[in-house]
Amino acid sequence: RLIKDALSRSVHAHPIVSPTSWSSSRSHHYDVMVVGAGFAGAVMAERLAADGGKKVLVVDRRPHVGGNAFDEYDANGVLIHRYGPHIFHTNSEEIFSYLSRFTKWRPYEHRVLAAVDDMLVPMPINRTTLNMLYGLDLKTEEDAAAFLAAQAEPVSVVRTSEDVVISAVGRELYEKFFQGYTRKQWGLDPSELDKAVTSRVPTRTNTDDRYFTDKFQAMPLEGYTRMFERMLDHPNIDVLLGVDYCEARDAYPHDHLVFTGPIDEYFGYRFGKLPYRSLQFEHAQLDQEQFQPVAVVNYPSPATEYTRITEYKHLTGQQSPRTSITYEYPAAEGDPYYPIPRPENQALFKRYEALAMVQPDVSFVGRLATYRYYNMDQVVGQALATYRKMAQRHVREQAV
Ligand code: FAD
Ligand code: UDP
Repeated sequence: RLIKDALSRSVHAHPIVSPTSWSSSRSHHYDVMVVGAGFAGAVMAERLAADGGKKVLVVDRRPHVGGNAFDEYDANGVLIHRYGPHIFHTNSEEIFSYLSRFTKWRPYEHRVLAAVDDMLVPMPINRTTLNMLYGLDLKTEEDAAAFLAAQAEPVSVVRTSEDVVISAVGRELYEKFFQGYTRKQWGLDPSELDKAVTSRVPTRTNTDDRYFTDKFQAMPLEGYTRMFERMLDHPNIDVLLGVDYCEARDAYPHDHLVFTGPIDEYFGYRFGKLPYRSLQFEHAQLDQEQFQPVAVVNYPSPATEYTRITEYKHLTGQQSPRTSITYEYPAAEGDPYYPIPRPENQALFKRYEALAMVQPDVSFVGRLATYRYYNMDQVVGQALATYRKMAQRHVREQAV
C-alpha cells in the first residue's frame, strides 16, 4: 500500500520516494520485478498482473511514471511533455484498442513546418513545399514526381541516411532539409547513419501535409501520465519511484526480472558503452496566445543550435491567453534517448543481446533494452508480444 500511495502522490506532486519510506515493505516477495515505468515496463506490468495474475513490483529511478512519454501541467496550466513532444500514431488496431482500455483519445493529426530559406514550409517535403521553395506551380502528382526525378541522383546501393534522401530528392533539398538537421540531431553526418534514420521521413508528390499517415492518430485525452496511472492501478502492482534497480534488486526478492533500461548498463558495460544520443530540453512559458502556426517547427539550419520547437496547445487543444513551448538541443551526454543506428553499434548490441539470450529469468523489452529506434506503438507491440511468449512458455511448463 505504501508503495502504491507513492504512485498516486508522485504523479500529482512528484515527490521522490526515498528508500527509507519503503523499507517497511522489504519483506515482500514478488513474482516479477519490472525495471522502468515507461511504455515497455507499464505494458509488461499490466499484462503480467491483470492477465497473468502475477504480483509485480515496478521500479523507476525517475520520480514519475510514463518514462519519456511523461507529461505534466506547467505554470501556464498547459499540458507539456517534459522529455519532448510525443505524438501517438499507429496502424495497429490491436495496439490502439489495448491502450484504449486506459484512456479516451483526442483526435489529432500532426503537422510540421520546416524553417527553410526564410519560409515555413511543409515537412515532409510535398508538392506545396516544392511550389513554395521554387516559386513553381506544380499541379499534379506527375508534375511533382517529374520535378523530383530531375533533382534525384542515382545511388546504386542505398545504405546510409544520405543515400536515401539524395536518391529521392537530390542534393539541394537534402542539404536544405536533412543534412544540417541530422548533423545537429545525431552529431554525425547522414552518410554515417543507417538508412533507417532518414527513411522515417517520406517524400510526397501530393499535398498531404500530415507528418504521419497512420490509420490511428490521436493524443490521450487526459495525457500520457494519466493513462500510465490507470495501467498501473491494479491490486497486483506496486510501484516504487525514485529508486534505481541496483538499490531495489536485493531488497525485493523476485522470481523474474523485466528490464527496460539500457542493456549495456544491465551488463555493467562489459563490452564497452553502447552509444545513445541525448537531448537538453528548454521549456518556456510565453505571455502570448500563440507562438507558431503548428505544433512543431523544425530548424534544419546550422545557424540555430536547437533542432525543433514544440508548442503544446496544438497537441492538447487547450485555450489560454498564454502558451508553452520547448526547444530541443541535441547533446552527447545526458539521459539516453536515442539508440544510434549504425552497423558498429548494432554489432556491439548483438554481443550484449547474446548475453541476454542465455538469461531465461530476465526479459529485455523496450527502446533502450533492445537498442531499437522504436516509436511508442512499436514498444507497446513488442511488450505485448513478449508477454504472450512468456505466458505460452508458462503454459507449456505447467503441462510438463
Ligand atoms: P523509456 O520511456 O525510456 O522508459 C524506460 C524507463 O526505465 C525510464 O523511465 C528510466 O528512468 C527507467 N530506467 C532505466 N534504467 C533504470 C534503472 N537502472 N533503474 C530504474 N529505472 C530505470 N514515439 C512516438 O511514437 N511518437 C513520438 O512523437 C515520439 N517522440 C519522441 C520524442 C523524443 C524527444 C524521444 C526521446 C522519443 C520519442 N518517441 C516518440 C519515442 C518514445 O519515447 C519511446 O518509443 C518510448 O517512450 C519508449 O518506451 P520505453 O519504455 O522503452 O523507454
Ligand atoms: N530529419 C531531418 N530533417 C527534418 C526531420 C527529420 O533531417 O526536418 C531526419 C533526422 O535525421 C531525424 C530523422 O530524420 O533524426 C527522423 O526524424 P523524426 O522526426 O522521425 O525524429 P524523432 O521525432 O524521432 O526525433
